[in-house]
Amino acid sequence: MSDLRELYQEVIFDHYRKPRNFRPLANANHKAEGYNPLCGDKVTVYLRIENGIIKDMSFEGSGCAISTASASLMTELLKGKSIAAVEHLFEDFHRMVTGTETMPQSGLGKLEALAGVREFPARVKCATLAWHTLHAALQDQNTLVSTE
Ligand code: ZN
Repeated sequence: MSDLRELYQEVIFDHYRKPRNFRPLANANHKAEGYNPLCGDKVTVYLRIENGIIKDMSFEGSGCAISTASASLMTELLKGKSIAAVEHLFEDFHRMVTGTETMPQSGLGKLEALAGVREFPARVKCATLAWHTLHAALQDQNTLVSTE
């Protein structure tokens, strides 16, 4: 178990140090901003959606290791996915980090590295910020999302 924990931490720190898809998206047609006042995490999610598929996706912002890694892993996982698939993954991810499911049954892949945050309720908001912001972007709510 401790080996597994170390591996998870490696994934998180790797994505914190070198966030993937960390840039504005010039041809985005969906966008939203999120803020977690509890920790000070800020994130902007950009989406290029065509025919119900996420063609491209990126993010910008500043935050702790958990929020940055979560956003980075999310963009990697969701690129090329349909909106319907994204809704399912969002639910699976939320269940995983809030601990209502012992092991994720889904295709969350490397995002499973964030399962440990369920032991730290304050960090759950760091982990879910990017997802709540993504959700707002999909619904075209061009308002600031706050976890509070
Ligand atoms: Zn945070």
